[in-house]
Amino acid sequence: MAKSQTPHIVILPSPGMGHLIPLVEFAKRLVHQHCFTVTFVIPTDDSPSKAQKSILHSLPSSIDHLFLPPADLSDLSQDSKIETTISLTLARSLPLIRDAFKSLVAKTKLVALVVDLFGTDAFDVAREFGISPYMFFPATAMTLSLFLYLPTLDQMVSCEYRDLLQLLRIPGCIPIHGKELLDPTQDRRNDAYKWLLHHTERYRLAEGIMVNSFVDLEAGAIKALQEKEPGMPPVYPVGPLVNIDSTGKLDGSDCLKWLDDQPHGSVLYVSFGSGGTLSYNQITELALGLEMSEQRFLWVVRSPNDTVANATFFSVESQKDPFDFLPEGFLERTKGRGLVVPSWAPQAQVLRHESTGGFLTHCGWNSVLESVVNGVPLIAWPLYAEQRMNALMLTEDIKVAVRPKPDENGLVCRDEIAEAVKVLMEGEEGKGVRNRMKDLKEAGAKVLGDSGSSTKALSEMANKWKNQTGT
Ligand code: UDP
Repeated sequence: MAKSQTPHIVILPSPGMGHLIPLVEFAKRLVHQHCFTVTFVIPTDDSPSKAQKSILHSLPSSIDHLFLPPADLSDLSQDSKIETTISLTLARSLPLIRDAFKSLVAKTKLVALVVDLFGTDAFDVAREFGISPYMFFPATAMTLSLFLYLPTLDQMVSCEYRDLLQLLRIPGCIPIHGKELLDPTQDRRNDAYKWLLHHTERYRLAEGIMVNSFVDLEAGAIKALQEKEPGMPPVYPVGPLVNIDSTGKLDGSDCLKWLDDQPHGSVLYVSFGSGGTLSYNQITELALGLEMSEQRFLWVVRSPNDTVANATFFSVESQKDPFDFLPEGFLERTKGRGLVVPSWAPQAQVLRHESTGGFLTHCGWNSVLESVVNGVPLIAWPLYAEQRMNALMLTEDIKVAVRPKPDENGLVCRDEIAEAVKVLMEGEEGKGVRNRMKDLKEAGAKVLGDSGSSTKALSEMANKWKNQTGT
């Protein structure tokens, strides 16, 4: 068979829906706007989830995918952190990634490898084949700025970051307390931190980094990232790239039908992403807070987990019927005003729906961007990963979110929740937040327009790849 002369890109996503979804949007743009073909090479540590399969099978034929056989992680201890699991999955998949490259260079004109935040070990495989390595960073420019700065910070600071008295100054960003930094930096002796440092040290080996953000959203961080510094790869803000179609593996038509019957802008959507779980006590407080707010809501509920906040990151589904854990009588008392759906909702459509007027979110970056493109203001409820950093930026810096405060035990109580919901949905105080989010929606549409900055940044990248000879 003759080798195709269409420039081809390999995309290597880290495990997790939150990593796959923006990369899929990125791939669609490469195909539709720049006529590339793409193969997703997907490392796994288990069989692929239904949600992953459903999103990949829905793609045009110019975007192919290949699930690698699961990496053996049987020696990993039960308490290993997500960053360790993901990094080891990738590291142990390298021979399989090499095989995939071998077969792809034989039949395509391969011009670039694109990894996301934990895929840097695959850079070496790309180099073996003479292919340029790039990165698509699916989180904030603030997090990217921290990551590029982390090797320096690691040298400068000897204690735990959370014990520092002074605020940290990540280049271009709002000052932040060490305890608000992302999870794997909270215990520097843990393998998760060592892996993070390993990857961030390798970020500079990328020939370019695309970040899923845009100037109006993160002006300071983006400016800092684009300052030319020797040894730093160029950074291209290409966002907001969000999932526009549903990624729902479940039929979401019931909740969309319910939304059709609600007044314009009246419903608060409540969801903690693909991985977020709350403790039993926190579910109770949230249920009672929503009830007390007397606002309409659509809540994606998962069964509680009292030990970790990201229990469904790799699986999405609850193990038990989540409705069993709701306070007694809650469903009956809120019937008509509230709808509760188990585990998963077609979030893209929910946020686009005109009845949706607010979003209580765990501040996963895809969720935030999906809200931004629809102009839906936020209640920030960070749970894990870099979400506390996102919440700080959203509430203190660009002020498009309100944030209920947890008590001294970390529990967000019902009164605090009810108050935040009322402020966001109808209160005078929430007006500024709502208006700023509308402005951001317009700015987000503009940067993705024909002559917008994100469209131009992606074209610059694409032209670079097209001019590469490939293999
Ligand atoms: N999502 C969805 N339905 C749900 C929960 C999540 O469609 O019930 C999608 C959501 O639209 C987003 C992604 O899953 O695109 C979650 O990514 P995010 O970065 O917000 O959080 P993560 O799951 O990575 O923590």
